[in-house]
Amino acid sequence: MLERVKIVLVNTSHTGNIGSAARAMKTMGLYDLALVQPVSEPDGKASALAAGAGDVLSKAEIFNSLDEAIADCGLVIGTSARSRTLSWPMLSSRECGEKIIAESTNHKVALVFGRENSGLTNEELQLCNYHVCIDANPEYSSLNLAAAVQTLCYEIRMAFLAQDKIKPSQSEYPLSEELEQFYVHLEKTLRHTNFIIPKHPGVVMTKLRRLFNRARPEAQELNILRGILSSITKLKRDE
Ligand code: SAH
Repeated sequence: MLERVKIVLVNTSHTGNIGSAARAMKTMGLYDLALVQPVSEPDGKASALAAGAGDVLSKAEIFNSLDEAIADCGLVIGTSARSRTLSWPMLSSRECGEKIIAESTNHKVALVFGRENSGLTNEELQLCNYHVCIDANPEYSSLNLAAAVQTLCYEIRMAFLAQDKIKPSQSEYPLSEELEQFYVHLEKTLRHTNFIIPKHPGVVMTKLRRLFNRARPEAQELNILRGILSSITKLKRDE
């Protein structure tokens, strides 16, 4: 189960934080680290702070974009130190650990962490199924990146150790990559039917993403939706 949990660090500035995150992961039994456009690649400082977790660091995969890093995951959870204007399904850190353990029997899951100075962008947060906020001091709630990784990996471990009390998920969810293909198909169709006008795209796609994310279609349901889109394209073509 823990093998299917991927920790994703987006655009990290300090290599020391990457090393500390690797150490935090390994102490909790997690090994899959993905780095999206790190400002600098892991160096001596990262290795020093990783200490005995050099293996996690050296195996870390580097990606050009968050989409690519999470493409093979069926559940993506984004972390945020503050509530954003964008309202999205929220989890507490405890619920986050439990959800990850409930679903990691079925597919890979990703837990995504943001930049030290500015966190994750709204676009990045919109690629996630849920957001998690560590319930910290409301007057100072922003943890150091590696401390946040440690806290959430600990919750994953606690849920893993109590897994006999957690009901495994029965649903088969699409992978992030398949969901993204659906959104591309949906937008293309809505442009084709002129529901979305190129000059005024507005916030339709953001709102629709939020709607579908809330519904969380299963793999089969997503296939039906894609079939519907294809039937619309065909109808327009035959007109
Ligand atoms: N100033 C940034 C905070 C960045 S802290 C902001 O306002 O978003 C760096 C990263 O650590 C965050 O992107 C998040 O991944 C994690 N983090 C820090 N505090 C957190 C908290 N209370 N809950 C969840 N994640 C947190």
